[in-house]
Amino acid sequence: MSESILVINCGSSSLKFAVLSDEGQSILLEGIADRLGVGNSTVTFKKDGNKESIHLADGSHKSAVAEIKKWLSQRPTILDSLTGIGHRVVHGGETFSKSVLIDQSVIDGIAECANFAPLHSPAHIIGMNAAIELFPGIPQVAVFDTAFHQTLSQEQYLYPIPMELYRQHHFRKYGFHGTSYRYISRRLAELHPKSLEQGVLVAHLGNGASTCSIHKGKSSDTSMGITPLEGLMMGTRCGSLDPSLLTFIAQAQGISSEEALDILNQKSGLLGISELSNDCRTLEEAMALGNKQAKLALDMFAIRTAKYLVSTATTLNSIDHLVFTGGIGENSSYIRAAICQQLKAFNIHIDSDKNSLRGATMSIESKKSQTKVWIIPTNEELMIALDTINLIRQ
Ligand code: AMP
Repeated sequence: MSESILVINCGSSSLKFAVLSDEGQSILLEGIADRLGVGNSTVTFKKDGNKESIHLADGSHKSAVAEIKKWLSQRPTILDSLTGIGHRVVHGGETFSKSVLIDQSVIDGIAECANFAPLHSPAHIIGMNAAIELFPGIPQVAVFDTAFHQTLSQEQYLYPIPMELYRQHHFRKYGFHGTSYRYISRRLAELHPKSLEQGVLVAHLGNGASTCSIHKGKSSDTSMGITPLEGLMMGTRCGSLDPSLLTFIAQAQGISSEEALDILNQKSGLLGISELSNDCRTLEEAMALGNKQAKLALDMFAIRTAKYLVSTATTLNSIDHLVFTGGIGENSSYIRAAICQQLKAFNIHIDSDKNSLRGATMSIESKKSQTKVWIIPTNEELMIALDTINLIRQ
């Protein structure tokens, strides 16, 4: 069997994993451990169309990694083919502008910016330490969601607040979904080599959603900020709003600012407006049955995405390509159409027949559009596997 890479994505209460071989092109195994630390945790393995779920008595991230090791030990050909482990890391602060081989100084560096991702960073570190202990001798690599946006200029990444706050505390825009944007930029260059010299605008629309402008393969602006809360309306996040609202909500509800922030992160967005669900597909089904709040939520999502696309595009010389990716961007023809409807002043138009197709990489602009409009499924696991392969070969 060719070399394979284990990709680990540790969230606050879940751990997704995959084993990729053939330079990341084949998926040997996929799975998820969920409800970690919450109770009744399980780990599910998917291989060759078969699914197997195992109850985790101790629902910790470490026991999830141990269960993966145990499962692989029963399939020695896969275990023996493992040459590296790649970890997705949400926040690398200003310390990490590219993927790195993990050693103690890297773990310390991730811990130093943990205040910006307090739910994720501790989980990443537990996952890394568990993997180092359980897979001794296998090199491990950290791949950061923020790294791709370290090319933003100071004018773009600074917030207009006292400079002292940036100097002392590193309060600035970092941006996220960087691994997805890097993949999209690379994939678009395969599909349309000239795109490397052109202006590329990407909407990564999933439960979390952001926009990014890319010039010569580098991020020049993005909508998310110091945390993923800034920018677009999302599944449960409000996106950008007047910061005074935080205090108003806390005072009006008699709650702390942390609790008010929880409302903005977890009870807002599509869920807050629809009062039904954070899930785009559920809302589209409800809209089809006449639910007006579901339609309002979806239309607000599209309108706000269009506004951010235009704002993000101000760093480009021209908008030559607009790419939709992420669960919503790849699958929702309603949202894509509603966004492009808002962009007609920018000569962006789609062909409704092409837009109604789903599940493939394709361009969907109409003849009169000055911008090529693409649907490109993202593949963050592939990027993590490729970075891991490159670093361990160096
Ligand atoms: P992600 O976070 O990238 O996994 O994307 C999750 C989002 O994609 C959820 O809001 C889903 O409802 C949405 N989604 C997935 N498939 C579809 C579909 N066929 N139509 C509309 N939305 C979809």
